[in-house]
Amino acid sequence: MAILLEGKTLSKTILDSLQPRIAALTASGRPPLLAIVNYFDDSPSAIYVNRKIAACDKLGIQVRLIKPESREGLAGFLKLLASLADDREVDAVMIERPLPDGFETPAMWDAVPAGKDVDALSSVNMGRLFISKTADIERAGFFTPCTALAVLRLLRHHAIEVKGKKIAVAGRSAVVGRPLAHMLTNMDATVTVCHTKTPDIASVFKASDIVVTAAGRARWLKADMLAPGATVIDVGTNIDETGRMCGDADFDGLKDKVRAITPVPGGVGPVTMASLIEASVKAAEEGRK
Ligand code: NAD
Repeated sequence: MAILLEGKTLSKTILDSLQPRIAALTASGRPPLLAIVNYFDDSPSAIYVNRKIAACDKLGIQVRLIKPESREGLAGFLKLLASLADDREVDAVMIERPLPDGFETPAMWDAVPAGKDVDALSSVNMGRLFISKTADIERAGFFTPCTALAVLRLLRHHAIEVKGKKIAVAGRSAVVGRPLAHMLTNMDATVTVCHTKTPDIASVFKASDIVVTAAGRARWLKADMLAPGATVIDVGTNIDETGRMCGDADFDGLKDKVRAITPVPGGVGPVTMASLIEASVKAAEEGRK
């Protein structure tokens, strides 16, 4: 059986460490307030929205859940972002993807206030990330995409070295694949970003020590696509045909063939959530100085 790279322990450690900081913020005025903007109730990310709200409730962080109407269009979205930027009560803003078609525009990236942008989708935080050469991204002093950060934290927590390793990342989205590839490159890994148009993707995976999959394809990564003893980090959050949550990796088919693997649920997801909440606390601390 492969080493199970579970994320619940690390998630709990991160969340527990936030309690005194949240208490201090609350004592000095009010608890942190995270605004979550979610357009689609039926997307896999909606599952995590409910978990984020539950975790925030438990910690005493306030959440304002905003479900805008797609028909209000990009103009309505930009107006909402401007109001969240100006709202002194709101410390942190999380915009769930996917967004309605046509919303991913420079106007949108520029409208998210960098100091509240806890999942780093703004031009400012993305720009900082891609200019930065630091291997220690957690101490870089700006917000970074929480999922990509969670992958790094999980690898470190389980003492998996990335320096000098060949790593394939399946997925080139701005939320996971691209920022993660950049972060891993800064940590001296040699990274290949793969996507739907990559020819013979299995040959890339077979040449890799670590495969990170963020493709959003239920149980798509099979044992015959990997080198023996590879490590698999499964970012995918999918709902299968029976309504069960599963990853991109065929966990049952892989667990006796790979060296280490993250479970879904219980792997990257809880660390992403904890990283988001930690960033929200940081946004409140910095924003109230
Ligand atoms: P996305 O749809 O924006 O991007 C998916 C990417 O995967 C694309 O670049 C596409 O080219 C690539 N891809 C799709 N099928 C592929 C295939 N067969 N082979 C190679 N590449 C392929 O999705 P996203 O927002 O990046 O999210 C990816 C997955 O990660 C989803 O399942 C999402 O729910 C999940 N997710 C999980 C967390 C977490 O904390 N665990 C957080 C965010 C997203």
